Amino acid sequence: MIHRHQSSPEGALVNAYLVEVDDGVVAVDSTLTVSDSRALRRRLEGIGKPLLAVLLTHSHPDHYGGLTELVAGEEVPIIAPAGVHVVIERDDPAKEQILRPMFGDEWPARRTFPNRTVSDGETVSFGGATFTVIDLGPGESPHDSPWLLGADRRTVFLGDQIYDRMHCYLADGFHEEWLANLRRLQRELPNDSVLHVGHGGPVDPSLFDWQARYIETFVDGVREADWSDPDAARASVVARIKGYLPDGALQFLMELSIDPVATRLGLLDTTR
Ligand SMILES: [Zn+2]
Repeated sequence: MIHRHQSSPEGALVNAYLVEVDDGVVAVDSTLTVSDSRALRRRLEGIGKPLLAVLLTHSHPDHYGGLTELVAGEEVPIIAPAGVHVVIERDDPAKEQILRPMFGDEWPARRTFPNRTVSDGETVSFGGATFTVIDLGPGESPHDSPWLLGADRRTVFLGDQIYDRMHCYLADGFHEEWLANLRRLQRELPNDSVLHVGHGGPVDPSLFDWQARYIETFVDGVREADWSDPDAARASVVARIKGYLPDGALQFLMELSIDPVATRLGLLDTTR
């Protein structure tokens, strides 16, 4: 039994999942805000089974920020590939600088980090269920790690590889790697798999093509804008991507991504 816990719009509509197994619950991700992660903890307690582990799908704060409230002081394995650990601990001070003014006390004062490492293809077992990690490396975030539930590769906790027709965060600049990861996942997962994604969903593998076209449309929009007038260039990128996705949620994530991608492509000099 998979329970999807969707955050408020203020919490970026991010999902965490509670997977009920024989003698406990395995959580996948933890949401961002104090309120959303406390609600997640209450939902776990409502199930009435112990928390056996938390699995992380990637290194972004809307997926690890709620860990402190979710584990609530218990000794629980928090599992991710080494690369996810490294990025979370490396970038957390910078995330504090960015997220504190945006979220105030809703960004947890004390963050909890992963405490158990897995390598690509490794399987962990809890309460009779098996979870196998796919260590993708950089993509949507600096380090991504979807999980497969069971051996048939049909139940997938995909993280933010696909957004369910919402605007996307590309500010980390790994769009080429992200596109390659999408092609790999599309090849390796069955056509009838159920994709439990980080925002919205669940979705089916037809959304791999939608996601790739979103990324290409955004990057083309940045590349083809006239950066001699940065404000007009930004507006043209927004207009172009809204031509592709007229009324998706999370538009602020896309807007936050324009300058970093333009800088990455050498079109915008932010040092001037
Ligand atoms: Zn996310």
